[in-house]
Order: sequence, then C-alpha cells, then structure tokens
Amino acid sequence: MVKSFSCSQEDCAFEIHSNDEGEIVSMVKEHATNVHGMTLNEGDIKSGITEMH
Ligand SMILES: [Zn+2]
Repeated sequence: MVKSFSCSQEDCAFEIHSNDEGEIVSMVKEHATNVHGMTLNEGDIKSGITEMH
C-alpha cells in the first residue's frame, strides 16, 4: 500500500509517495530542515501520512 505525505506549509508543493513509512519520515525530516528550517518529530510526520488505496 502506498503512503503519501504532503507538506502543510504555505506555498510549498512538496509531496512524497512511498511504500516505506520510514523513508517518508526521513525524507520529510530532511525537507523540513532544509527548506523550512524546522524540526519535525516522527509523530508529527506520521500523523500527516495518508494511505492511498
Ligand atoms: Zn515544505
């Protein structure tokens, strides 16, 4: 099952799709740090992940 995450920051189109939740978490952490200068914790990211059917 493919999971996806869309960045919730204004004017940001970052979106990731993967079967691997761990990959999504690490990519999103990296994105948040590099692009927004934010530190997201794993719980925040996981709560924003949706599953696509
Ligand atoms: Zn973003």
